[in-house]
Amino acid sequence: MASNTHGSGNSGTGASVPDRPAVRSYLTRLVCSMCGHPEEVDRLKNVCTACGRVLFYEYDLDAVRETLPRDALRARDATLWRYRELLPVRETRHIISLGEGMTPLLPAPRLGAVSGFSQLYVKEEGLNPTGSFKARGISVAVSRALELGATALGIPTAGNAGGALAAYAARAGLPCYVLMPEDTPLANKLECVLYGANLYLVKGLINDCGRIVREGAAAGRWFDVSTLREPGRAEGKKTMGYEIAEQLGWELPDAIIYPTGGGTGIVGMWKAFDEMERMGWIGSRRPKMISVQAEGCAPIVRAFEAGERHATLFANAHTVASGLRVPVAIGDYLMLDAIRASGGTAITVHDDEFTPAMRAIARAEGISPAPEGGATYVALTKLRDSGFLKTSDRVVIFNTGAAWKYSELLETGLLPVLDPADPAVQAQIA
Ligand SMILES: *Cc1c(COP(=O)(O)O)cnc(C)c1O
Ligand SMILES: [Zn+2]
Repeated sequence: MASNTHGSGNSGTGASVPDRPAVRSYLTRLVCSMCGHPEEVDRLKNVCTACGRVLFYEYDLDAVRETLPRDALRARDATLWRYRELLPVRETRHIISLGEGMTPLLPAPRLGAVSGFSQLYVKEEGLNPTGSFKARGISVAVSRALELGATALGIPTAGNAGGALAAYAARAGLPCYVLMPEDTPLANKLECVLYGANLYLVKGLINDCGRIVREGAAAGRWFDVSTLREPGRAEGKKTMGYEIAEQLGWELPDAIIYPTGGGTGIVGMWKAFDEMERMGWIGSRRPKMISVQAEGCAPIVRAFEAGERHATLFANAHTVASGLRVPVAIGDYLMLDAIRASGGTAITVHDDEFTPAMRAIARAEGISPAPEGGATYVALTKLRDSGFLKTSDRVVIFNTGAAWKYSELLETGLLPVLDPADPAVQAQIA
């Protein structure tokens, strides 16, 4: 028996959730999103054993509908665990939380005035633990892995997921193994080491790291918590969809602009909208789901434009927005289906456009944007110019991480250095 799968259940820490009452679990099934094949729901699983694609957790939504009126959420704590009936962790004592989720949905009137939009919002995900929204999926994945008896965790990462796993694994008392490209931002490497993760730098991209992690998982060294290869991560990310609905008074916006790498966010939010409609929390109207990628790594945009349901490997993938450096994604069809069904679109942004957009957001609103967040603002203005979006549309752009995690990028051009020996030094201060 593999060392990472023995036993069922674990004492957990309990201490991380002292005042959270036990609730019934409504989790019913674990099913393939592609072929419908069911897997054992209470076992550590990665992908469909029939077709190799993405597994989704399902819940008894009729029962949740009867026991949880949406207004009852108001009294709950401000983390994503407020939606615990719709998350796959059966026992609250297994919840590993650092306060993730329920991030502010900030009205952005100054940025809106600059860009012409009268109802612009920024979902500020940089305020999550470890400075990115990866904390959401990782909190759920680690909690569930602990509940199902995992004794070690492994992850391939473009950066932020590794840092998040390092933190949550520490809090769970589980060893973890993080594999990231050698040229990942320094902050991501340092946070892994700080939290005590086993960090390995790889000559290659996230998909190369993924292969190493899958081999290690097959050898029983750890449980693989790769994005969309571990079904809890999409559940954690789907709470962004619940939050936007709740924060807008159970009305969805006209458009959501989201920087897309592995795609868990788009896929998760789309699933959340479906669940909420089935519980009678929202109607059938959906926001246009807009995927933003970097010109140097745009497999989803390319597949969208070609009318394909699957994306091919994007060769020579490169971009400074490390979260978007994902040349191939197992959930491509889920993203592309959601974008198309919503009447949305997919668009690229050039690397040179990131820093000016980060600066624009930071100066207008006091928000610290990751380059991926900057990309959503560039996309907003491009889609305004093309007429795809109207300036009267209510639009949510996602800032998925904090600028400080990308200090190398910010350093370039943002920090002028004065030479006191230069007679014209005062002129430079003007
Ligand atoms: C991972 C990441 C993304 C991409 O998110 P997905 O949900 O995997 O598509 C975007 N921005 C940042 C900062 C990230 O870390
Ligand atoms: Zn399948």
